[in-house]
Amino acid sequence: MSIDLQLPATAVHPMAVKLAAKLKKIGIETLSDLIFYYPSRYDDFSVTVAIKDLTAGQTATVRGKVELIKNQRSWRKGMLITEAIIKDDSGAVKVIWFGQYYLSKILKPGDEVFIAGRVSDSRGLVFYSPAYEKATAAKEDLGATHTGRLVPVYHLTKGLTSKQLRYLIKLVLIKLQTLSDYLPPEIKKSLKLGSLLEAVQQIHFPDNQAKLDIAEKRLKFDELFLIQLKNRLARLELDQSQAISLEFKEQAVKKFVEGLPFKLTTAQRKAAWEILKDLQKGHPMNRLLEGDVGSGKTVVTAIALYNTAKNGAQSALLAPTEILARQHYQTLTRLLSGTGVKISLVMRSEKTGNYESGELNHDADFLVQNSDIVVGTHALIQDKVKFKNLALAVVDEQHRFGVEQRRKLQKKSGDLVTLPHFLSLSATPIPRSLALTLYGDLDLSILDEMPPGRKKIITKVVAPAERANTYEFIRAEIKAGRQVFVICPLIDPSDQLGIRSVKEEHAKLDKEIFPELSVGLLHGRLKAADKEKIMADFLSGEIKILVATSVIEVGVDAPNATVMMIEGAERFGLAQLHQFRGRVGRAEHQSHCFLFTENESAETLERLSALVAYSDGFRLAERDLQFRGPGEVFGTAQSGLPDLHFANLFDFALVKAAREWAGRIIQIDPKLAKYPLLKAKIGQVEKAHLE
Ligand code: ADP
Ligand code: MG
Repeated sequence: MSIDLQLPATAVHPMAVKLAAKLKKIGIETLSDLIFYYPSRYDDFSVTVAIKDLTAGQTATVRGKVELIKNQRSWRKGMLITEAIIKDDSGAVKVIWFGQYYLSKILKPGDEVFIAGRVSDSRGLVFYSPAYEKATAAKEDLGATHTGRLVPVYHLTKGLTSKQLRYLIKLVLIKLQTLSDYLPPEIKKSLKLGSLLEAVQQIHFPDNQAKLDIAEKRLKFDELFLIQLKNRLARLELDQSQAISLEFKEQAVKKFVEGLPFKLTTAQRKAAWEILKDLQKGHPMNRLLEGDVGSGKTVVTAIALYNTAKNGAQSALLAPTEILARQHYQTLTRLLSGTGVKISLVMRSEKTGNYESGELNHDADFLVQNSDIVVGTHALIQDKVKFKNLALAVVDEQHRFGVEQRRKLQKKSGDLVTLPHFLSLSATPIPRSLALTLYGDLDLSILDEMPPGRKKIITKVVAPAERANTYEFIRAEIKAGRQVFVICPLIDPSDQLGIRSVKEEHAKLDKEIFPELSVGLLHGRLKAADKEKIMADFLSGEIKILVATSVIEVGVDAPNATVMMIEGAERFGLAQLHQFRGRVGRAEHQSHCFLFTENESAETLERLSALVAYSDGFRLAERDLQFRGPGEVFGTAQSGLPDLHFANLFDFALVKAAREWAGRIIQIDPKLAKYPLLKAKIGQVEKAHLE
């Protein structure tokens, strides 16, 4: 008999009742949650030695008798310390704990204990604040839990310790004889993966490193396999759904393209062609248009929107912020002027406008009903507005657009049959190989070519001594009519030395360095309306220098800005720095990006110099990925990256195996009828990773 894992976590031990609120905080409510709460790392206390063999600096476990234990005030800081002598047949060693006076009640002279930790040398060998465990407790049925082994360490919340979690998890694991395993046996056999039960037991309490490796391989595979299976299923669902088939209006599109003030790049042509071909199909398109900042995604989008309008169908373009929505609206209005296409901007915080009629203040519903193209923020999905016949949704900087969100949009047209086509725009340069794994359900169009004639942005890592010169350079640029961004890592002043905050920098630049110029301040904690106002003042040229946090990162087009000055550059990733840099150099003026850092370590300088060497976002992203994981580089929420605990997306062999198996399973059994456990598991993954 095995225990029922759906029981509340509190069923395991009275201690869990006391800790219930804290467990809940880290997502643990059931016994199942407990055993699937995986360690973040391990302390290696597996080496057990005789006390006389201890050496300074070593991490080890010793077993001995408590010879003496007492509490006292340390004479230096008046701190309460507990001092003990532990003795085995070979010798004795001193142990000191800080601020844990209750230990002298738990551990009594004569008790057999394990002590584990790093040994220091301070006039003789000492364990400072080591882990301890009574040998009697370890001997019961539990075995060593906190010492004498690879000891799991967990992510915690205040008031909860790894020791408590370890104990609770172990209590469940020793009662657990079976665990239903969702991974099809043929996969396990083919890839020599262990059972889920073994993996879970070993991941918490590994017998040794080799067994831990085997458990990790199983769990890594699971993560990669489940993502890909989920993507394939989503794809399958779309392929079986209907969408409005949009004819390629060749004449009109050609004329539109010829009327543009520039020639499309080959990459733009190819992407537009791929999109137009997709839109002709009777199934919903699911496509990601990836292109570095400035690669010209907007005009490719405009072609798709225009072609949709020419079919008499509606489209929506959704942006992450109101500033960006307004910019898209303005750009589209300019690009499509004279074509007769009706575009409207629908937002919450202000009056909505319709280009064609020039009227403001229409009610949103009327506008949406009477437009070919509706531009708005993502909030439009939640709004009550209704479409007439929405055929295409373009979403800026949001990769994941679940079937759920599509259905919401679908309902807005009162349409029960067709789902809108979906095009996602992204300036996040996720390399193709990575994108295939992550977005197996998305087709990919990549703009890997910049429009010609762009001036390269001059990028420099600036030594602190050059700061004054940089300010003079900025003064000259502003005199010549240009504008400047200054980015800082923090909002509020910090007591950490050398990390600059927007508030301090703004005050300094505004009052001391550039008292004659208007200096603006922008950060995420301002009210949306205030942010909008400041951005508007910057775009109109009233504000000359904008001191901002990373809120400035996404998409804003300020063609007159030519200097991007970044403080504490080491605190940002390369991909993010590249995004900042993309805020300048958007018009004919020569632009500059200055990277300031107080941290002149070789690693920082090497990382930042990659930015000087490369102007290609894809190459920088690849470099960045070598330094940091994909979650760090691209962010998990916005890019729809899964939160991987074990797997590494660059473990190509395992990624490939997972992809092949996902394909095979879908081919054999697209409904997962033969794999009910897998089906249920996918349902959980879906909930955790999507919306
Ligand atoms: P992003 O991909 O960052 O959204 P945009 O669409 O805003 O880039 O384009 C950046 C700038 O390049 C715009 O001013 C746009 O008019 C211009 N542009 C786009 N395509 C071309 C092209 N083929 N040749 C010249 N300029 C172009
Ligand atoms: Mg853009």
